[in-house]
Amino acid sequence: WNYHVTHFVTSAPDIRHLPADVGIEVAFAGRSNAGKSSALNTLTNQKSLARTSKTPGRTQLINLFQVAEGIRLVDLPGYGYAEVPEEMKRKWQRALGEYLQKRECLKGLVVLMDIRHPLKDLDQQMIEWAVQSQIPVLVLLTKADKLASGARKSQLNMVREASLAFMGDVQVELFSSLKKIGVDKLRLKLDSWFSA
Ligand code: GDP
Repeated sequence: WNYHVTHFVTSAPDIRHLPADVGIEVAFAGRSNAGKSSALNTLTNQKSLARTSKTPGRTQLINLFQVAEGIRLVDLPGYGYAEVPEEMKRKWQRALGEYLQKRECLKGLVVLMDIRHPLKDLDQQMIEWAVQSQIPVLVLLTKADKLASGARKSQLNMVREASLAFMGDVQVELFSSLKKIGVDKLRLKLDSWFSA
C-alpha cells in the first residue's frame, strides 16, 4: 500500500462513535510522548496527520485515517499522562480495552515505546489485550537514535526476551523517525496485515 496518500477521516470519542466495523484497521498506541505522531508522520510522509491528532481537544480522541477504501490507520489516545485525573485515566483505559477486545476489523496493533523506557504497565496491558484477542502486535522501540548501537541492541534483546512472556504474535523492532530506522519493517508489517 501507498501510505503517503493517507488522509484524515474522522475522530471518535469512544468505540460506539467509530465508523462501521468493516474493512481492516491497524491501531497505533503508546504513552504520550512515545513518538507516535512522529512515527505516523514518517510512515505517511505528511506533517498534517500528526497535527490533526495533536489539535487541542483531539488528543483524547480516537483518530482515524484512511490509506485506501476500507484500509484504515487508527491513532489511539496517548496514555500515561501524569496530570490526568484518575477517573479520566480509568475511562480511557476502559475505552482502549473495549476497542482492542471488541473491534472486529482490527487486524494489528502497533505499540510504540521510548527505547529508554519500554514496557510500562499500560504498554503491557495493551499487549495483553491484543494477545487475548488474537491480534498480532508490532512493538516499535522509538527514538532509537538516542542510544549508541551497543545499548540499542541490548535494549532490543531485553524487550524481545521479555515479550516472549506474552505468548502471542509479538514482534519487536527498533524505530527512529529522526534517522528513519525501522520504517521499512513497519511498512512491511502493515502491508501483511492489510492484505490478510
Ligand atoms: P507522541 O506524543 O507519542 O505523539 O510523541 P511525538 O511524536 O509528539 O514525539 C514526542 C517527542 O519526541 C517530540 O519532542 C519529538 O520531537 C521527539 N521524537 C519523536 N520521534 C523521535 C525520534 O525518532 N528521535 C528523536 N531523537 N526524537 C523523537
